[in-house]
This record gives sequence, structure tokens and C-alpha cells, in this order.
Amino acid sequence: MERAEKSSEGKSLFEKVWTLALHRGFVIPTAEIYGGIAGIYDFGPLGTLLVKRLIDLWRRFFIIEETNFPVYEVSGATILPYEVLVASGHVDSFVDPLVACLKCKAKMRADHLVEEKLGVRVEGATVDELNRMIRENGLRCPNCGGELSEVTLFNLMFKTEIGPLGGKAAFLRPETAQVIFIDFKKAFQAMRGKLPFGLAQVGKAYRNEISPRQGLIRLREFTQMEIEVFINPKEVNNHPGIEGVADSKFRILTREGQLKGEEAVEVTVKESVEKGVVPNAYMAYYLSKETEFFERIGIPRDKFYFRHMMPEETPFYSGGNFDLEVELSIGVKEVVGNAYRTDHDLRSHMRHSGEDLSVDVDGEKVVPEVVEPSFGVERIVYCILEYCYREDDGRGWSWFQFPPEIAPVTALILPLMKKEPLVSKAKEMFRAARKSGVFVEYDDRGSIGKRYARADEIGVPVCVTIDYQTIDDGTVTLRNRDTRNQVRVKAELVPRILLDLSEGRLSLNALEALKG
Ligand code: AMP
Repeated sequence: MERAEKSSEGKSLFEKVWTLALHRGFVIPTAEIYGGIAGIYDFGPLGTLLVKRLIDLWRRFFIIEETNFPVYEVSGATILPYEVLVASGHVDSFVDPLVACLKCKAKMRADHLVEEKLGVRVEGATVDELNRMIRENGLRCPNCGGELSEVTLFNLMFKTEIGPLGGKAAFLRPETAQVIFIDFKKAFQAMRGKLPFGLAQVGKAYRNEISPRQGLIRLREFTQMEIEVFINPKEVNNHPGIEGVADSKFRILTREGQLKGEEAVEVTVKESVEKGVVPNAYMAYYLSKETEFFERIGIPRDKFYFRHMMPEETPFYSGGNFDLEVELSIGVKEVVGNAYRTDHDLRSHMRHSGEDLSVDVDGEKVVPEVVEPSFGVERIVYCILEYCYREDDGRGWSWFQFPPEIAPVTALILPLMKKEPLVSKAKEMFRAARKSGVFVEYDDRGSIGKRYARADEIGVPVCVTIDYQTIDDGTVTLRNRDTRNQVRVKAELVPRILLDLSEGRLSLNALEALKG
């Protein structure tokens, strides 16, 4: 089934997918009845189910099934005291260059404006350089043509206070990572940890982006799924599970490749470590695991790669950053940031707090190094929507081909007609499936064709229909969303089949072999 590149109605693919996401209530603009607010969205019922299933799969894949070393999840506060963000460097340097229109007062990212208008990359450019480029090229406000202000640096953190009337200065956390660093020693000791040791977190992060845009891509409130792996600095090339993935491949766009204008190339984990394409074995391990994960959630392997960030895009302390970039209809977008953060964060918190965050390794004090994969949930949700969206392929409606492992609703249970004993039988099946832990829906309104259509439109992998033959021989039909073929199976097998589908043990392709 081919992904639609552009829509039949002449709308761009982004417009089409975004309109559908809003229309079906995957996404609801926050405070929409009051006019909405830029860069902040709620997830509606289907969006919440999709997000939940994505997070559950991520958790299973990166935490529960990670048996090479322990990874525990923590769940930290979203408000952090000023001191933490001073130590992390965010107070001084979590800034974007801002330029305002002196006439219409529109505010925009100066670097984005220059990039868009002049077609050059300005990552890492200073305020002076941006000012010069704006002046020399006579750039004006893209909205009204007005004159532009000088460029200033704007800190992206939301500032607040803890306690009444001039309380303690604090910020909403701009990333989930810092909570993990400040909790590391306690968590390590409490779990009788030894290196390597992973701490993961799924939670909200807040950035007061200057110009939020493109729906779920640049938000002011979003969700991160992060892992910080704490490693003995002498062992960064000694990942205990590396042999198991040695031949796994991932696509990488090297720094050299970028300078020469080349495409991403495929490497094996083994090659990438041996040839120094990545800085250590942990990074190679995660790049291969992420490749597997993204394919599993429906993003084709040839549509994403890891870009080794150029020196000017990389923080000074980093041993190498590798962004997972996905080719979308609105351009290439960073969806996961992988960073070799070295021991920078722990050492910085040690300096600022006065606490010793080193751990004991065979009687020696060691400050661990950290490799961090950081996933943005909302951006991934957009990638899933775009890559799973299918134009009408003759069935009369557009639909979503969500992999059953993440589909918001696994099955629709329907009586052929709203008549007894079909309705009772179908409701019995609905309750049995829900009891086995699968999220299914029941629908007896309208014609069977309309109900199949609604199921396809929200990407339900299977429709289970209870008809008169069910009453005779105890079988039901299973309709495969992708092929629209139907098979009859024994009703009592259905809850198990749906559970296996929803947990990835059974593929939709295998449905037809279940006959009888
Ligand atoms: P970073 O800490 O900037 O490397 O971000 C890690 C991940 O968080 C990115 O790869 C994105 O998926 C996500 N992310 C960062 N900023 C935003 C934003 N403003 N809106 C939505 N997702 C974001």
C-alpha cells in the first residue's frame, strides 16, 4: 500500500493529515472555545489512545525488554528550582535569537527568517552575524513588510515562582533529563545499582518557542521519552549487548557526507564502532534499536536516518549528537535527539550543589558518562499520522494504516444488524475482548458498510462481525482492514487473536491463515 504524496483535493499532505487529525479529534487545540493558543494542543480520545499505545510500546521495547543492563523509570517534578537550571546551563544558554517587526509587532526566530529568505544555514551564528545578514540583505517583516528590530536573545524557559508573593524563582522544566541527573545518585543507591545503569522518564517539557508552528512539530508544551544511560567512562565501548546487534544496520549522514552534499549511508553497528562513525558502542546500540522501533511504528526505513550534528550545532561538552531525522511532506524534521553528554551534567550538578554524585566502582570513585536518546512524542505522533495515512484506494474513503501494535482501537465488534440475538452475542464478545485487556469498540448504528468505513477512517485493524451463521455454528467473520478480506473463525478464539494482534505477536497478514 503506497503512502499518499499529495491529496486528491489539491491540499498538501500536511494539510490533509492535520485537518483529519483535528476533524476526528485526535488533536484538539487547547482552549479552542476561547480562540486557542499557539503551540499548545490537547489530545482527544483517539489521540490519547494513540499516544498511550506509542508510549507503552516504547516502554516495552526500550525498558522492559532491555535485559543487558537495568533501566528503571522515574517520574519527576515538572517545576524545578532556579539553581537546577543554572547548573544545567539553561538559564544562560537556552536561548533563541528573536527579531520583532517594528510595525505589526510580529515576533519571529531571526535564524529561521534568515534561513528562509536567504536559503543559507545559520546554525550557530551569533547575534551580530544575524544582525549583519538582516541589514545587508535588507530583510523586512514577512507579514507586513515593516522594518525589523535588532536581534536579541530570548530565553525559552517558562519562569514561575514557588510560594506566594515573591516566592522562590523556578522554571517549568525545558527537558526531562535534568530531573534524572539530580535524582541519579539516590536512584542508583536505592536500586543497588551498578554501571551501566539506565534511568528513563516519560513526561512533559515546556519551551516558550518564539514561533510555534506546523501543528505538533514545534510546540510550547510537549512530551519527551528519555533514557539516560550512566556508563563507566572506561567502558563506553564495552556495551554488554553489543554482540546481539552487531550486524543490525542503521542509516547515517556523517559530517563528511553533509559537507560533500551526500546522502545517508547504511552501516552495521559493528562497522560504525570500529570505524569511529559513532563515538561509542552505546550510541551505535541505540541507533540500531531506534531503527527497529521506527520501522515497527510504521515509518519506512528509507525515510529516516541519523544525522551527525555539525560542530556548530553541538554543545561544547558533547561527545557527539545524532538526530533521528524523518523525511516528512513539510521537510526533514528532527524527531529523536541522541546525545553523548559525557559526564558534563553530573559534574556540573556536583559543582553547583556541593554534593558528591560519583559512585563506587571496585573501591574507586567514578563519575559516570551518559548517553541519552531523547524522543519527542508529539513529533512521532505526527510522523505516524503522515506515514499511515492512505488516500481512498477504491474503497470510497481515506483511512489510516496504523500498525496493530499502536492502533488506537484494535477492533470494532459489530452485529450484522441491530437485532436479537445478534446484539447480545456481539455485546458478549465486546465484553470478553475488553476483559482480555484489548481496547475494542462496539457499534450497531447504521449500515455495515458505513461502520466498516468508520473503522477504516480511524485505522481499526479488524472488524469482528456477528451474523446469523454465528448463532448456528459459533463462528464470526474477521475483516482485515488492509486487504478488506474476511475470514471466519471460532468466536471463542477472538479475544486471544485480538490480544496477540494488539501486542505484536500476530500480524494482520497472518489473519487469513487462521481460517476455521
Ligand atoms: P532536544 O532536547 O531539543 O534534543 O529535543 C529532544 C526531542 O524533543 C526532539 O527530538 C523533539 O522530538 C522533541 N522536541 C523538542 N522541542 C520540541 C518542541 N518545541 N515541540 C515538540 N517537540 C519538541
